[in-house]
Amino acid sequence: MKCPICGAAELEHDTRDLPYTYKGNHTVIPAVTADYCPVCNESITDNAESERVMEIMRIFANKIDD
Ligand SMILES: [Zn+2]
Repeated sequence: MKCPICGAAELEHDTRDLPYTYKGNHTVIPAVTADYCPVCNESITDNAESERVMEIMRIFANKIDD
């Protein structure tokens, strides 16, 4: 599948640690399985994985906002 964002490259299915930044604070979301674009660095996750990633982001944001 071509990247739906930039259309320039085939996506690579992979599991990677995904860096995440919230209000200048950095963390890494471990072992995110997604289709990654090598050109624009977009990552396309399926629904279940999206929910897991969003949940980790939410918990991280809550800790910073406390
Ligand atoms: Zn792309």
